[in-house]
Amino acid sequence: MWDARRNRGEETVTCIACGESVGRSEAREYDKYGDRWDREGKAFEHLCKTCYRELCHQPRAELEALLVESGAGDAREAFLARYGALVEEEYGPLEEHEP
Ligand SMILES: [Zn+2]
Repeated sequence: MWDARRNRGEETVTCIACGESVGRSEAREYDKYGDRWDREGKAFEHLCKTCYRELCHQPRAELEALLVESGAGDAREAFLARYGALVEEEYGPLEEHEP
């Protein structure tokens, strides 16, 4: 059964990150090609607000800098350990994601 209060016959979409069904107006479009305005012949993927926020608080430019700083290209394990430490330093411990 639909949750009548939330969906009111509205089309629902599935979050690609957590698999949650959300009303289309509650979802954020995610375009893997990075161009939301060229809609021709495209099927958009969707993220719920929670996942959208989680993705967006690590901007790509900063991620790039973190990768360089933590020595991407070094031995994989050493790199991952340093990268993890730097991310925690920058953003705090990663929270468990409740389904
Ligand atoms: Zn989600």
